[in-house]
Amino acid sequence: MLNWLQTLWGRRSTRPETIPEALWLATLRQYPFLARRSVADRSQLRGLVSQFLTEKEFTGAHDLSVTDEMAVAIAAQACLPVLHLGLRWYDDFTGIVVHPGAMLARRETTDHAGVVHHYKEALLGEAMHGGPVTLSWQDVAAAGDLAEQGHNVVIHEFIHKIDMRDGAADGCPPLPSRAAHAAWHDAMQAAYDAFCEQVAMAERFGGQPPWLDAYGATAPAEFFAVACEAYFVNRDRFTQDFATLTTLFDRFFKTNEAIAQ
Ligand SMILES: [Zn+2]
Repeated sequence: MLNWLQTLWGRRSTRPETIPEALWLATLRQYPFLARRSVADRSQLRGLVSQFLTEKEFTGAHDLSVTDEMAVAIAAQACLPVLHLGLRWYDDFTGIVVHPGAMLARRETTDHAGVVHHYKEALLGEAMHGGPVTLSWQDVAAAGDLAEQGHNVVIHEFIHKIDMRDGAADGCPPLPSRAAHAAWHDAMQAAYDAFCEQVAMAERFGGQPPWLDAYGATAPAEFFAVACEAYFVNRDRFTQDFATLTTLFDRFFKTNEAIAQ
């Protein structure tokens, strides 16, 4: 594959250029949940991905060189949530940092007895408020196979960016009115509470674990990110468990009700 993006970026062009056909088709093959979208959606996505690649800067960590295939794969998944909202939702940052695999982050917690515990946590990705998105390429590459289970690390991190448009990562993106905000909060809170209950029952009493990733029970912001992963890559299975959220997300992601702040 020719190094199309290096040439594009070298020219410092601000005009998006069409992604080469072979590269685009290879991306759709790698991620069947993209290939399954309607013709209109795929065409819209391809245009948005070109624009995204013109505006964003990719950096490889630990000597990783970011290829055309990698950049287009990340861009295509990142653009899926904003397909109908527009790239303005991502205009508070330009950097995307790609690590070869999971990152080890140092963490520290203090327990009830006042003892401080240091540990390292494996991160698949991270989104900073007003800053870059960091991703593990190993996990981005596996996203085609993980769609059945509703997992997608790129969508997860970019949903955090959408959530943080109005400040805190609280599971509620900017919405146009108080009424919309209240409706969002009511639907999400009810689903989150029921989900946390199901996760707790499974962990403590050996109940049936939920289909959706239990990581969603750690905070409302994580529930929003995890739910959107599943909504975008395995909508049918997600809707079996969260029909009210499918309606809520359809209204937000598919109509102009969402207003970027
Ligand atoms: Zn998260």
